[in-house]
Amino acid sequence: MNEIVKGSIDLIRQLNYGLVYASLEEHKELSRTDLSRLTGLSPASITKITRELLDGGLVVPCGESSVGRGRRQILLRINERRFQFLSMRLGRGYVDMALFDLAGRSLARHRHQFSDGERGDLLPSLIQAIEAFLPKRALRLACIALCLPGQVERHSGMVRHFPYYDLRNWPLGPTLEQAFSVPVLVSGDVRTWIQAEREWGAAKNCADAVLVFVHNDIGVGMVVNGQLMESESAMLGDLSHLQLEPYGQRCYCGGFGCACTLVTNQALEAQYRELRERMADTESDLPESVTIRELCELALAGNNLCQDILHQAAGRLARVLANLICLLNPGKLLLGGEITRADRLLFPMLHQALASQLPADYLVRLQIESTHFYEDPTKPTSVQVHKALRDGSLLLELLRGGSGES
Ligand SMILES: [Zn+2]
Repeated sequence: MNEIVKGSIDLIRQLNYGLVYASLEEHKELSRTDLSRLTGLSPASITKITRELLDGGLVVPCGESSVGRGRRQILLRINERRFQFLSMRLGRGYVDMALFDLAGRSLARHRHQFSDGERGDLLPSLIQAIEAFLPKRALRLACIALCLPGQVERHSGMVRHFPYYDLRNWPLGPTLEQAFSVPVLVSGDVRTWIQAEREWGAAKNCADAVLVFVHNDIGVGMVVNGQLMESESAMLGDLSHLQLEPYGQRCYCGGFGCACTLVTNQALEAQYRELRERMADTESDLPESVTIRELCELALAGNNLCQDILHQAAGRLARVLANLICLLNPGKLLLGGEITRADRLLFPMLHQALASQLPADYLVRLQIESTHFYEDPTKPTSVQVHKALRDGSLLLELLRGGSGES
């Protein structure tokens, strides 16, 4: 209890700085009087905060207000070009990197594919890839934001488990922080993406939303009553090992018939190969194997075999979704992953399967949509930076001079 009371003064200070920044971000140009009125902070507090932001170069004067007959006031705006930040997504075998300014404009981007040798020692390889990507001059790096398909401890930046590389207790955040001397924000993919969808995408203005991402596992991000469901546990929102078939295929977790053995990309691609082989006589025109994207395209083009695979996947996925819908009753259910390329077929199948599994009351207000941000994973990752600026935490770090400059 004492810790909470002691910490609250620093927290209030941080939140006040964030409040000023968020007001400027929303209204673009404001006088100190406007800021005081909008934030509810005293004129003296606004003078102190804006002076520090001006000294730190985060805010600049941009003219004078000419409204009313009183004394003209200097207008302030965010200096969007003062700092840049690096937004990255670490995928399976590659990393997508993009440099943004504080307004969220993309300045440069690159995908680095790790060689087999680099994959063996991923952390030094990642640092090298970042160093090669970052401009050598005129860079003021504010922070690095990174997300990945794995279990991440929110505050420490430690990756509890990164399945593709089978890395456990991987010190990703602390190592990058040491290498680049800037704050590093690490998060699991889905937890970040639901925030981006809430901020800019398909779940904007939606108080209750669930994002289910189907890739090589099944991740879930949840917003309930406007609040992101978060926990220190890296295991939050992973439905990969929900058992759908007790006598099903053995999963790498040790269980049988887990959802990830039935509806993930690899599972659907394997189902295709098996069915194609069995139906070789009648389906000889089809390729022996396909990627999930090709499978979706074939289904959309009218191929029965691929449509059947999708239909079965929709039924199984609906069993996962039905649990979430009963639990959270969301207004919007966002589905992400390559499987949504066939959304025109998949979503009606899901609606039909859900209608047979759930009472109608649950489905009255439910909308199922595709996520907005799948094609550019660096943009949703950047939502972490905007949040850290608006809650004041990153802002104070920048004012303390914690940013790397080269
Ligand atoms: Zn499993």
